[in-house]
Amino acid sequence: MKIFIDGKFYAKEDAKVSVFDHGLLYGDGVFEGIRIYNGKIFKAKEHIVRLYESAKAIFLKIEYTQDEMEKLLNEAVKVNEKKDGYIRLIVTRGDGPLGIDPFQCAKSKLIIIVGDITLYPKEFYEKGIEIITSSYRRMPSESLDPRIKSLNYLNNILAKIEAKQNNYFESVMLNTKGFVAECTGDNIFTVKNNVIITPPSYDGALEGITRNTVLQLANKIGFETREMSLTRYDLYNSNECFLTGTGAEIIPVVKIDNNIIGDGVCGNVTKKVILEFRRFVSE
Ligand code: PMP
Repeated sequence: MKIFIDGKFYAKEDAKVSVFDHGLLYGDGVFEGIRIYNGKIFKAKEHIVRLYESAKAIFLKIEYTQDEMEKLLNEAVKVNEKKDGYIRLIVTRGDGPLGIDPFQCAKSKLIIIVGDITLYPKEFYEKGIEIITSSYRRMPSESLDPRIKSLNYLNNILAKIEAKQNNYFESVMLNTKGFVAECTGDNIFTVKNNVIITPPSYDGALEGITRNTVLQLANKIGFETREMSLTRYDLYNSNECFLTGTGAEIIPVVKIDNNIIGDGVCGNVTKKVILEFRRFVSE
């Protein structure tokens, strides 16, 4: 494994950053998780745009242009000879003194890790999963916009801990107004009367690359899609529900807070979307 840090590739055991990096000290930085399918970086440009928008929102200057970043990603995949895998692209605020002032950090640090993808169990996709609603609310955008894919995931991690402590794999987070935002590491969709619905990003959802791909593909195969505010009522009374994410791809949800969704199996609309997504990534 060859890891890129600020202009050079290092062997895994030599790939190290300073304990004074504000990414470590304060979670000050941004990142992307990206799939490699068949030697091709999935939606590279979209991930890069999201990275730069996250960086801009936290006043973080990336020392490379977007074109340079795309070239670096391709180089990292090539150097690692990876056909199917996962890229973790990280930009930290860089090294600085112990105080939080980001302007004391000389320059941001770029890290690119190309590794294997850990897939979820097959039964998740075949049988669907059960989730709960988290008691932790998604961070309000006036405090920290959830569209920023930052290195600080504690809001999501607390919701994940809550899910796991209750023997669930995932939990769905509401915003402070009670509208559905997203899950701890995935976007959420419902299907009602054949319309595919997902919360708008202003309700606290990350603009998921998989989410946006699913919206496009669903339209392409003839489904109506909507970005619309949802409450728990809408989740419980949906015909189908599924989660989307880079690692997860598309996972059907069959129970929420012990309420059976639709027929309690992966629904027909979800099946069609999964099929189209599989086709798209293997093109
Ligand atoms: N929401 C959150 C909080 C995430 O961390 C992620 C990425 N794992 C997603 C949604 C899904 O986004 P994407 O499809 O771009 O992976």
